[in-house]
Amino acid sequence: MKIVLLGPPGAGKGTQAKSISNKYSVPHISTGDIFRYNISNGTPLGIEAKKYLDKGHLVPDELTIDIIKDRLKQDDCKNGFLLDGYPRTVNQAEALETLLEGLGTKLDTALLIKVPKSFIIDRMTGRRVCKACGASYHVQFNPTKTEGVCDLCGGETYQRADDNEATVSERLEIYDAQTQPLIEYYSNKNLLTEVDGTQTIEKVFEDIVDILGA
Ligand code: ADP
Ligand code: AMP
Repeated sequence: MKIVLLGPPGAGKGTQAKSISNKYSVPHISTGDIFRYNISNGTPLGIEAKKYLDKGHLVPDELTIDIIKDRLKQDDCKNGFLLDGYPRTVNQAEALETLLEGLGTKLDTALLIKVPKSFIIDRMTGRRVCKACGASYHVQFNPTKTEGVCDLCGGETYQRADDNEATVSERLEIYDAQTQPLIEYYSNKNLLTEVDGTQTIEKVFEDIVDILGA
């Protein structure tokens, strides 16, 4: 199963990705998680990427495409993968298509989690993320059982530096200008499927399973 998750920042892609990855045994590949891992380890990629993440801007396509090229060639992607946060530009989507063609395969679906703007600021400013496994929580809508401790792995949760109101607004503008066109891109290729992301986390997942198959 080869899936791209689409939707604005805060739509619930990372949240659903954890459940999809568990149920269908495909690796969850989040370019945002890869950048944050590199930033916290002070790698050259992390030092470069931080300049963009801090402002809420996109990391340049050249860097991002290379990361995905390397990642999708790894053995655990042979039977499928779930991309979360990639592609974010038409250029990245075209690069993905070329890459998959080269590997003799193609996407099964681009699954859009639809959420109106009015939900996003609350979701993102209340988000808490596990430092160790990247699991996403919300102080109000999906709190951890013990404050500050990840339910899944026991890691410490924290608030992302880019989840403040100013950066969120910037990211939403960038989403509209650069990422939203991917909806039409995948629709034209008859690959687009949609779920209503304003429902509970459990109901969104049920709808996803209806689309992907039990
Ligand atoms: P994305 O990966 O699309 O940026 P996340 O999965 O990190 O989004 O979700 C953003 C925030 O919204 C998190 O705090 C998460 O706990 C919360 N959230 C996700 N899905 C829902 C939902 N269906 N209802 C309420 N809150 C949600
Ligand atoms: P996310 O974790 O998906 O919210 O991404 C956090 C940040 O990482 C974004 O605001 C961008 O700065 C950067 N990023 C993640 N994925 C991409 C991508 N595909 N292209 C460019 N930048 C990205």
